[in-house]
Amino acid sequence: MIRVFSSDYRRRNGARTDPFPVRTLRRIERPTTKIDDSAVRRVDERDGGFRRADRGEYGPVIQREYRRFMTKHPLSGALLGMSKHLAPIAAGETGKSIAPSTDNPVFNARHIKETAYFLRADAAGICELPPYAVFTHSRWDGSPIELAHKYAIGILIDQDWKTAQASAGHDWISNSMSFLAYSTSGFIACVLAEYIRKLGYPARAHHAMNYQVVVPPILLWAGLGEMCRIGDIVLNPFLGPRFKAAVVTTDMPLAVDKPIDFGLQDFCDKCGKCARECPGQAIGRGAKETHNGYERWTTDVKKCTSMRVGNQLGSGCGMCIKVCPWNKPFTPFHRFVNRAIRDFPAVRSLAVKADDWLGYGKPKPGWKWWLDVEDVDGVYRDTARMSGDNE
Ligand code: SF4
Ligand code: SF4
Repeated sequence: MIRVFSSDYRRRNGARTDPFPVRTLRRIERPTTKIDDSAVRRVDERDGGFRRADRGEYGPVIQREYRRFMTKHPLSGALLGMSKHLAPIAAGETGKSIAPSTDNPVFNARHIKETAYFLRADAAGICELPPYAVFTHSRWDGSPIELAHKYAIGILIDQDWKTAQASAGHDWISNSMSFLAYSTSGFIACVLAEYIRKLGYPARAHHAMNYQVVVPPILLWAGLGEMCRIGDIVLNPFLGPRFKAAVVTTDMPLAVDKPIDFGLQDFCDKCGKCARECPGQAIGRGAKETHNGYERWTTDVKKCTSMRVGNQLGSGCGMCIKVCPWNKPFTPFHRFVNRAIRDFPAVRSLAVKADDWLGYGKPKPGWKWWLDVEDVDGVYRDTARMSGDNE
């Protein structure tokens, strides 16, 4: 499992900070996605797909399903319930005095990342907070958002490679995979923000139940990934798209990371496997377009949201994550292939084909561990027996 391999790497490289070999990544001055900083407008969190579904803009069926789609499986419901406890503790009072030995940005950055890894983050990166990465309004109560922290710390949590392999991509575990990573990254962000406040610096956690920031540009500037074909998703070279992220913003002096280039723009141009397999036909197969100052591939938010919310054969959807060739374990073999794909562009077309030839992206029913059940008005329906899976 990925955590075993990442822990092994961290143990064997005790002097290194990060669980994954980020020192082998090519660092660049700006993200590989073209961003016209002067053209990017701050966005309103209420304009997201789930808010639109909740308001009925995608039709009455999706509006009705939105109100149950996160809790219709008991595990995703339990994870969501835990995440909700984190909503009111994102912010807090700053300590009265500044802790000694916290005036060196390089030391602080290393210490904060080590703290994130101690709390079980899978990856962490730091950037200056771009002003355009702050939402204009909260999705919960419509209140205007003003946030002037200087730095942002991105925290990634793996959704679990073994489960991703077992899954069909849009069955009853999909939402739980998302909410596992949302709740865990949110927990780490809340603890880290409180710790920084206790050290005497303002800090705020941002997680799925209480964001004030747009996450993807922060991950790009913090060197945690490149923008991929799956809409607004950032892809990490060691986790693929198989993660969720939380953020801590702060004024604690921190040395920042640089963006990374591991050839993903070229790889996604050659691949398109997520677009081919998307059950909602939501991912574009064409070239990049410019929206709100970002040049990127486009995804139909209405189609994706409708698939995730309205899925009657499962809970949510993560097919694009499952089939992506970067969704791999951290074994020595996969690390070797990963390095070859990053360093040698000529290998990429072959890697895309080989991913299909070797059967990656197919479900592994023998690895399945979760229950196929659905809560319908408080009564469980055994969806596996209905489809004959258990017979
Ligand atoms: S989550 Fe599902 S519907 Fe949405 S883009 Fe990914 S594969 Fe398509
Ligand atoms: S499946 Fe292929 S095209 Fe889609 S995000 Fe992954 S690498 Fe890019």
